[in-house]
Parts: sequence; structure tokens; C-alpha cells
Amino acid sequence: MSRAFRRALLILPQGAFLSIEQETAQSARFAHLLPMLDLNMEKVIIVGSGCAGLTAAIYAARANLSPLVLEGRQPGGQLSTTTLVENYPGFADGIDGPQLIMNMHKQAEKFGTRFSYAEVTDFEPRNNHVRIKADDEWLETRALIIASGASARYLGLENEEKLIGHGLTSCATCDGAFYKNVPVCVVGGGDSAAEESLFLTRFASKVYLIHRRDKLRASKIMADRVLANKKIEPIWNTVVTNYIPDEKGEMRAVGLRDLKTDEERELVVACVFVAIGHDPNTKAYQGKLETDPDGYLIAKNLAESKHPGVFIAGDVADRVYKQAVTAAGSGCVAAMEAERYLSELEN
Ligand code: NAP
Repeated sequence: MSRAFRRALLILPQGAFLSIEQETAQSARFAHLLPMLDLNMEKVIIVGSGCAGLTAAIYAARANLSPLVLEGRQPGGQLSTTTLVENYPGFADGIDGPQLIMNMHKQAEKFGTRFSYAEVTDFEPRNNHVRIKADDEWLETRALIIASGASARYLGLENEEKLIGHGLTSCATCDGAFYKNVPVCVVGGGDSAAEESLFLTRFASKVYLIHRRDKLRASKIMADRVLANKKIEPIWNTVVTNYIPDEKGEMRAVGLRDLKTDEERELVVACVFVAIGHDPNTKAYQGKLETDPDGYLIAKNLAESKHPGVFIAGDVADRVYKQAVTAAGSGCVAAMEAERYLSELEN
């Protein structure tokens, strides 16, 4: 709340003076009036700037709702850390994920979307509006679209946090080029692991693909490409047991255990790329919105939450499809539902 607005609420006599602290304390008494006055009230806040959030922004902005997108600490979501996207309709030759995201961002901005890097840490649904804490500030909005996506999982081994950025990462696109002509490994067996492995063959001397089972979970086309690539060596039925840094704290090797024979060994790699799936970014909503046991939000009728005015889009509620095109589709649905909700609220 601005100082001028606090003073206006207090209706101080001409010339009267209160310290900022006194004003803040006094004006807290009037805080419940804010939603009624509609000052500082956003029409739509969108949490997340991945494919779902930006599609919602394009639709909400074109509906003249002037949405505010809270981008968080990883703007662009997962597409911004991927390479060639070959299955997004309309791009016959594929398009780089970061480029696709930049295009969506520009498109949303063109129609009047506003952006902030603030990160959401808390959330309070109220009657006819929602309060949301972005960094240290509480924002008020009539409608909220949660499209906060999911974050990469790590293995949970010792020294993990210290090694991230020192030979441990979940993003080949971001870090692959740092590892030219050295051996690296990828952990996982899904499409992400396949995609990261193929990408890394451009730089690394050798890519070990470490998977806990004896076949890939990745789609057939990706699995076939991986298995046909001479630079990629799959290591089946094996898990990473520990990271082995050098004296400077940079990754030097990993400890491996063969799950069939229990044999343990060391594998020299300059970087470990972990590609074992994601966790939904739903910490701020736990206990306040319905989630499944893994924390994914539960959306009814495609985009609805249990609170009127709170809508859900993209990977934050999708543990099955997780595709750019499904995220975009659900962003569209969420924005159209938010628009319909706001019209009903006004009438
Ligand atoms: P995913 O399909 O869930 O695969 C995760 C992989 O990591 C699995 O092989 C799993 O092993 C393994 N894993 C999980 N936890 C592990 C642990 N603690 N230790 C060792 N290994 C572990 O995840 P994803 O590859 O990130 O893909 C997610 C979704 O995005 C999928 O639907 C995928 O199709 C899609 N995607 C699509 C593209 C594309 O179309 N270009 C690219 C990337 C992702 P198990 O096999 O034993 O379960």
C-alpha cells in the first residue's frame, strides 16, 4: 500500500502528521476495505512464465484484462532449458525451446501483459478475491492462474547442493557446452535423459547414460536415436551411489552400483546431468488447494480449483502428458475460465 494511499485511508486533518510506522499500524485497521475499494486490485495474476503461463497471458491480455505475470526465479519454465522441440504444432522443422518461449513472451507483452520476477511464497483465497505473497509483498487479485510448473529432481546424495554448478546440473542446454572433449554422464531413462544425452554428444568426448533398469522409458523414436549413437554408452541396471569431487570441489567421478550383481565401481566424469523427472512447484499452495500425494495440484473441469477465481494450468497439475502443447492448451482454458469468472463477478 503506498504512503499516499495509507494517508488517504486515515483521512488525517490538514497538517496532521503520523510516522510511517503509525500510519502503517493504523491503516492495517482499514485493510479489509481495500478489496471493496478495488484500489491496487489486479484483475488477473498469473504465476509462472512457462508455456502454460504465457499462453494464459496471451489470452487474458487479448481479453483486455492486463494480466500480471509473476515469473519467479526460473523464467520461461522447462522449455527455456530444452533444445529442439520437434512436436509443437506449426513448426515443421522444429523450434528451439528458448526461442519458442521468447516468442510467447513477446506475444503476451504485445497485448499488454506485465511481468515481474517476484516469487510466490504464500497464498490466501478470500471472498471474491485472492491474496498472494510475491517476495515480501502481498498482492490482491480478482482471479489467479497458477501455472508454476515443476522443477527438476536430484538424486538426494551427499554434497549435492554444493556440487550443483560444479559438475552437477539438470540442464544440458544450459551447461553442456562447458564440457567439451571430456566424459560426462546422464542419469535417467525417460525422454529428458534421451534428449540430454543426444544434445551432449555435440560437446562431450563420451556420454554415459546411467539407468536403473534394462530399457529406456523414453519414446521409441528418442530411444532408437540414443541407442544408435556411437558416442552414447548406456550403463544398465545401475545407480549412482555417490559423487566424487576433486580437491577444488569440481566433479571428478561418480560411484556406481550394479543392481543385478551389487558390484561397485568408479566412473570418471567431468559432469553429471540428472534427468530423473520433476516435482511440482506447489509449496505455496500446500494445505490450501487440493493436491495428489506427490504435490501436483488437482484441477477439475480442466482448470478449476476448489476456490472460485483460482485456476490451474500446465505441469503443476499434469503428471501424465507434460507436453508444451498440453501446457499451452491448459493455459488457454484457464485464461478463458478466468475471463468468464470475472464477467460473472461484475454482473
Ligand atoms: P520420466 O519420463 O518420469 O522419466 C524419469 C526417468 O528417471 C525414468 O527412467 C526413471 O526410472 C528415472 N528415475 C526416476 N527417479 C530416479 C532415481 N531416484 N534414480 C534413478 N533414476 C530415476 O521423466 P522425463 O524424462 O523428465 O519426462 C517427463 C515427461 O516429459 C514425459 O512425459 C516425457 O515424454 C516428456 N518429455 C518429452 C520430451 C519431448 O517430447 N521432446 C522431452 C522431455 C520430456 P524408471 O524408468 O525406472 O521409472
